[in-house]
Amino acid sequence: MNKADRTVVFLASGNAHKVAELQALAERDGLVLEICSAKVLGGMPAVAEDTGTFAGNARKKAHALRAIAPAGSLVLADDSGVCVDYLDGGPGVESAYFAGPAGDAAANLEKLVEVMRGVPVGRRGARFYCLLLLLDEWGNERIFEGQCIGTLLDEPRGGAGFGYDPLFVPEGFAASYAELGEEVKGRLSHRARAWSALAAWWRTAGR
Ligand code: IMP
Repeated sequence: MNKADRTVVFLASGNAHKVAELQALAERDGLVLEICSAKVLGGMPAVAEDTGTFAGNARKKAHALRAIAPAGSLVLADDSGVCVDYLDGGPGVESAYFAGPAGDAAANLEKLVEVMRGVPVGRRGARFYCLLLLLDEWGNERIFEGQCIGTLLDEPRGGAGFGYDPLFVPEGFAASYAELGEEVKGRLSHRARAWSALAAWWRTAGR
């Protein structure tokens, strides 16, 4: 399929991993889409992710990108995070800034390792959550959600993926997201599940 024949969806993120995961999911589901990073539009505009909810933050990001996208563009925002039982659901919506406002992924991972140090296996439950918010050509919004339940390791393991992937073991597996790799993660992850809901809607909407 030629890139030019695909429907472009601008992703309100500069995270290349999110772009790659969503593009792979679109191809798996046979949706003729091109997921374009905000970088294509000169970069993701600065947005304060301060609403306290995944939907609120996703909405802010989507509208900020829509404001600089060509008129009538489709815009998608992904707001996601890891919700840890021991931390009463934290860092959750604050996952990107767990270790501070710089949004340093390595520092965030290290902080999660530290705050969970010594917490027994039975109290290491967590879930990854993903909310996808799609703005259509007219700015109408649709929301799709997905989650993946699992547990946190003591130490990071594996080299694939991004963010907290090396610490999270999905239920039914013995390996982390980062050890399982993109093919397996693409079948069971929070993002994959949210995407499946989007793809089902896309097909029924006859798009
Ligand atoms: P967002 O970009 O504001 O949605 O922030 C998401 C935060 O959760 C970042 O810290 C990411 O590293 C983390 N996160 C979201 N999805 C994933 C994932 O699939 N794997 C690992 N970390 C993730």
